[in-house]
Amino acid sequence: MTDQFDVVVIGAGPGGYIAAIRAAQLGFATACIDDWSRADGRPAPGGTCTNVGCIPSKALLQSSENYEHAGHTFADHGIEVKGLTMDVAKMLARKDRVVAQNNDGILYLFKKNKVAFFHGIGSFAGKDGDAWQVNVSGQKQAQLLAKHVIVATGSRPRPLPGVAIDNVRVLDNAGALAIPSVPKKLGVVGAGVIGLEMGSVWRRLGAEVTVLEALPAFLGAVDSAVAKEALKLFTKQGLTIDTGIAITDVKVGKKDVAVTYTDAAGKVQGAAFDYLIVSIGRIPYTGALEAGKVGLKVDARGFVEVDGDCRTNLPNVWAVGDVVRGPMLAHKAEEEGVAVAERIAGQHGHVDFNTVPWVIYTSPEIAWVGQTEQQLQAGGVDYRSGTFPFMANGRARALGDTSGFVKILADRRSDRILGVHIIGPQASELISEGVVAMEFGASSEDLARICHAHPSLSEATKEAALAVDGRTLNL
Ligand SMILES: Cc1cc2nc3c(=O)[nH]c(=O)nc-3n(C[C@H](O)[C@H](O)[C@H](O)COP(=O)(O)OP(=O)(O)OC[C@H]3O[C@@H](n4cnc5c(N)ncnc54)[C@H](O)[C@@H]3O)c2cc1C
Repeated sequence: MTDQFDVVVIGAGPGGYIAAIRAAQLGFATACIDDWSRADGRPAPGGTCTNVGCIPSKALLQSSENYEHAGHTFADHGIEVKGLTMDVAKMLARKDRVVAQNNDGILYLFKKNKVAFFHGIGSFAGKDGDAWQVNVSGQKQAQLLAKHVIVATGSRPRPLPGVAIDNVRVLDNAGALAIPSVPKKLGVVGAGVIGLEMGSVWRRLGAEVTVLEALPAFLGAVDSAVAKEALKLFTKQGLTIDTGIAITDVKVGKKDVAVTYTDAAGKVQGAAFDYLIVSIGRIPYTGALEAGKVGLKVDARGFVEVDGDCRTNLPNVWAVGDVVRGPMLAHKAEEEGVAVAERIAGQHGHVDFNTVPWVIYTSPEIAWVGQTEQQLQAGGVDYRSGTFPFMANGRARALGDTSGFVKILADRRSDRILGVHIIGPQASELISEGVVAMEFGASSEDLARICHAHPSLSEATKEAALAVDGRTLNL
């Protein structure tokens, strides 16, 4: 029997499940197919983000930060902790519960919005008149017909040539989130968001962490002042970060992993780690989709080709999230999912990549939106810059976390905000003010004249805006 829908979404990561909910809200008969399973075989919608990405990494970051505070900063508050221990198994079990709550939450949302959920692999089977045929293979087989298909099949970890991930000693992000005990020595290949977050978790719990990065610059995509501050602070915390390296050999033993590499000076170096995390980026995934069967165009790097509106080369077939161009971020995937559902409904969904925020959840956190100073310089833009350190912010002092600063870049003539860059406590939350300001085309003066609660970390944003005009009040 064939089930008929208006919209079929393949993949229930943040791009897919949000697209399905929005399509259903707009009155379309909607189905969503996803193949991720829990250990007991039950469905685990939410994709990479929920199962082995954003959510579990933040759960572990929180646990490890609590441990670090108990060991290092509580004493300053007069709180004495005796016999502090870390139960890694309990921490991992809590992380798994947080993930399961999110899986269940999505299943609940599907029910609430009347999205038909199919647990299995979705693949293109052909066309029947105007409708696309999509087959589901899994515990239950199904044949679906739909006028519109949204491909949201996400991404997979980028492999390091010649290095096999076994998730025993050599780990991808899934393995990095499940190391059974605190390693003595942990190697991380790749100083990107995932590598730094995972390295931070295990460093806080006591591991000696070495991060090996092939690129010559540390956090090259980040504003250079922020990257410089981050390198200083992470190094002070005990992370060893080696840039400009080239890995030449990885040998996996029973109890360790031996890595040989040439350093930036061209000298051959060797290191042995209990575990090696490989986090050198992600690649789009279309593996099980049978894209070729219907002629869905995939580019040389594996991305489904789309235009600015997420339309593929096939009529009424759309693609969103990590499987298409643009930042590989959960919130970008979600916004594209909403925009596509609205376009299908004849509305004018819109996603502005210039105002997509980026966050690295290390401590201090790093967050930014818009252009970096080096981008403005390269583009020949005439700008002004204002910076305010958390050291001069009363709330940060009360928190006991005064590292970092807020930096605002604004066009010299119009004063329109072009970029907001934050390294410091709660940067992930503070950046929203910069996003809102940029979405509304605000000037730095607009931010500077808005009343901010006192004492709050957000006052540092106001002060950075004042600094653009050289008139901070608290520095
Ligand atoms: C460790 C880590 C931490 C991260 N932290 C953050 C963060 O803090 N913030 C952030 O914004 N981003 C973060 N990301 C990135 C984020 O997870 C991705 O950008 C996001 O998940 C992309 O969403 P998506 O819907 O495009 O794809 P995915 O989340 O990858 O979901 C795709 C889904 O489709 C399924 N699927 C694939 N093919 C088929 C098929 N043929 N049939 C059925 N199902 C299929 C997959 O199994 C998966 O469930 C992190 C990633 C990692 C690895």
